[in-house]
Amino acid sequence: ADLSPVTVIGLGPMGRAMAATLTRAGHPVTVWNRTPSRAEDLVAAGATLAPTPLAAVAASEVIILSLTDYQAMYDVLAPTARDVLAGKVVVNLSSDTPEVTRTASAWAAEHGAGFLTGGVMVPAPVVGTPDAYVFYSGPEEVFDAYEPMLRLIGEPNYLGADPGLAQLFYQAHLDVFLTTLSSLLHATALVTSAGVPASTFLPGALTFLTGIPALIGERGAEQTARQLEAGEHPGDLSTTLMMGATADHILRASEQAGIDVELPRAVKSHYDRAIAAGHGTSDWTALYEVIKARD
Ligand code: NDP
Repeated sequence: ADLSPVTVIGLGPMGRAMAATLTRAGHPVTVWNRTPSRAEDLVAAGATLAPTPLAAVAASEVIILSLTDYQAMYDVLAPTARDVLAGKVVVNLSSDTPEVTRTASAWAAEHGAGFLTGGVMVPAPVVGTPDAYVFYSGPEEVFDAYEPMLRLIGEPNYLGADPGLAQLFYQAHLDVFLTTLSSLLHATALVTSAGVPASTFLPGALTFLTGIPALIGERGAEQTARQLEAGEHPGDLSTTLMMGATADHILRASEQAGIDVELPRAVKSHYDRAIAAGHGTSDWTALYEVIKARD
C-alpha cells in the first residue's frame, strides 16, 4: 500500500533526522523550515520543500513539528491556522513545559486539529534506529491512528490523554540526566582541587554510577517506588541521619576546596529538612516527603 504523506516543519538536527527517516521508509515527505537551505539534503533524498507554512500544512494530513519550543509553533502556524488546520493532526515533538503543551493542545482543538505531544528521548543521530524511543500523550485514538508512522522515528511510548504527560516524562528523565552531569563535574572539581587529574577519577565515577541501580536495587526499584507511594520509609541501613552526615561532609569539603557549593548545599538541604520533619531514623527515601512539597 502507498504510505501516507507526512509534513515535517522544523529542520534542526532532530527534524532533519525525522524527515530523512520518513523519506527513506517511503512516505511522501513535505518539509518547511524558516531557513530553507537546511532542506537541501532532504530534497536531494526525495522530500519536497514547501514554499510557505501554509503549503506545508496543506500537503499532508499529519504535521510533525520539531522546533525549538512551542512559541515557534505559534510563530509558524498561527498565521495560517484559520485557513488550513481544521481536520489536520499536529504531532509536536518540540520541547516545552507540560503546561504550555496543554494550552497548545486546546489551541489546536479550537482550530479543529488533533494534537499529539511528544518527547524524543535520544539524540538526532539515533532517530530511526532500534535504540530510539519517544514519549507521546494526547487523544488515544489519534495516537493509535498514526502509531505505525510514528514507530519509524522511534519506539513509541504512549502515556495517556493528558497532553502534558509527554513533556513531563521527557523532563523527568532529563532531570535525572542533567543533575547527574552537574554532579559528575562537581565531583571531578572536588578531586582535581587536590591536584589529581580528572582522568584518574572519571572512569571510576562512571563505574560507580552504573552500580547505583544495584545499590537502590538491594530491595529493587519497585520496592523503592512502593515506599514512595505508601509514604512509609522503613529501613535502618541507609538512614536520613547517616546519609545527611555524608551530605554535610561533601558540602564542607567543597567549601574547603574552594569550588561551587550550590549543588551540595541543595542536596544537604533535603536531608536537613527531612531530619527536621522527624525522618532522621527513616530510610533515605523519606527525602521524598520534603522534595515533593515545596514549602
Ligand atoms: P534546533 O534548535 O537546531 O532547531 C530548531 C528548529 O526550530 C529550526 O528548524 C529552527 O529554524 C526552528 N525555529 C526556532 N525558532 C523558530 C521560529 N520562531 N520560527 C520558525 N522556526 C523556528 O533544534 P533541534 O533540531 O536540535 O531540536 C528540535 C526540538 O527537538 C527541540 O525542542 C529539542 O529540545 C528537541 N530535542 C532535540 C534533541 C537533539 O538531540 N537535538 C533530543 C531530544 C529532543 P531555523 O533553521 O530557521 O533556525
